[in-house]
Amino acid sequence: MSTSLNEPNLPGFDQLGFPDIMPDEILYSWCARFHHLSMRLDARVTSKLLFGIASAGLHHDIPCNLKTFENNTKGYLGTAENLLLRNTQFGFYSKFLTDESRLKIAQSFMHRDNATARSKLGLNPNELITSKILKVCPECSQDQYKARRFTWWQIGHQLPTSFICHEHHCALKLLIVPHTRGYARNLYSPTSRLDSLDLSQYFDAQYQWQQLEKISDWGNAMWRSDTLQLQNGILRWCCLYQLQKRGWVGVGGKVMMHELRNAFVRHYDGLLNIVGEKYFRDLTDVNSSFYTQMVRKVSGRQHPVKHVFLINFLFDNFEDFLETYNDVTNDLLQGGEALCSAILNRKNSMIARIKISAGQPVEEVASLLGMTALAVSKCADKDNATTKTLPRIIGTGKEAIIIEKSRQGLDYKDIAIAAEVSVSYVYQYLAKRPTLKIEWRKSYDYRQLQLHREQFLTVLKNHPGASLNTIRHIPENGFDWLFRNDREWLRNTLPAIWRVKF
Ligand SMILES: [Zn+2]
Repeated sequence: MSTSLNEPNLPGFDQLGFPDIMPDEILYSWCARFHHLSMRLDARVTSKLLFGIASAGLHHDIPCNLKTFENNTKGYLGTAENLLLRNTQFGFYSKFLTDESRLKIAQSFMHRDNATARSKLGLNPNELITSKILKVCPECSQDQYKARRFTWWQIGHQLPTSFICHEHHCALKLLIVPHTRGYARNLYSPTSRLDSLDLSQYFDAQYQWQQLEKISDWGNAMWRSDTLQLQNGILRWCCLYQLQKRGWVGVGGKVMMHELRNAFVRHYDGLLNIVGEKYFRDLTDVNSSFYTQMVRKVSGRQHPVKHVFLINFLFDNFEDFLETYNDVTNDLLQGGEALCSAILNRKNSMIARIKISAGQPVEEVASLLGMTALAVSKCADKDNATTKTLPRIIGTGKEAIIIEKSRQGLDYKDIAIAAEVSVSYVYQYLAKRPTLKIEWRKSYDYRQLQLHREQFLTVLKNHPGASLNTIRHIPENGFDWLFRNDREWLRNTLPAIWRVKF
């Protein structure tokens, strides 16, 4: 709790500084702590003071009117944009949006236009059972209390896919938040008296427990990834590629919908009821439109939870998914939907033609398609006279640079710039060379670690005595990355900060 006189205050709160927000705390949780510290007034009054609107702070998933919040708190908790991304569920939902709609929806949460943005994200309070609950891990709460003498709602637990704590592997408690007119009736903390939703039927059976843990891990991995963007097109192709690998795509690229649906229902059994009986109907109903939407290009968007259930059903693990994701990203860059569609339909000559005109070496395309180099060249010649003028990369100095920079663990983009080749070429090159890719991954992870540690230590050195909250608002401070990926180091290196300031 900060009490310095120099810190900003709201009118009427002159004796009270703002508490720091915890790096993994939802904004609603901070509001609840602030509310309780400031003499327990009516929650709507607190929300009005902070957000300018009595209901804005009572949306526990994503509060709105965040610009006013930033102004009223004089930016003490950071910018409205950063709060939206890091301390609300928007960070999760935004992974599934196109750049354009991400910006548009983020913008509307900055201001009053809340209902439209919420319905676009599928945050209709009547849609999901889990949209009216807050989740808590008893063990995390104990740790929080030991360290700080108070508890808070953690963002990682509130994702619509979170059922099991990522850190402690125990079932999250689902607490029912009383709602009025679409938002919480009060600012509740994890210690408030709330009824819990009984999910013991799902946690009793070992199989369902495993599935729920997997669903929780998928959601977590997607939310944590800095680079993953799962907007409709990419996700659709990822699923189609995998359907093909699993044998659900027949002759002519036709998806075996009926078999797929049956296998999906068998896989989850009664577990689909966990988010609401009617919710998964379009995945389980015989006349389902969901799969049709996955297979054909349509404008309608599905709720991320449905995608996560489908992805968990189709892929064994996140690594496998990432491989396919990289393949799809690369194919879309190389030849757009036409190439993806040719791959799905196993039209080898078309694949060869598109890949070669995008600059991929004949030898690679040949080994990818199991064809001879001669046959591949013939395909390419039919269509593209410029192929021959494309520079060769394999066996040249450019290849040497790609190998050297990969071993150093540079970003794909930086490798591409150094070797003067396209980013998609680097993707493809490493995808086909697993040993080099493992070397790259090791060096890349190491570089990221060093980079963020250095950033954090430099900021500490340049701002002696600054509070952790101040540090987190300095650009390139490294803290959030380290908090997510290198918490042990933070804990060991800076025990004083950990105890006192965090
Ligand atoms: Zn936990």
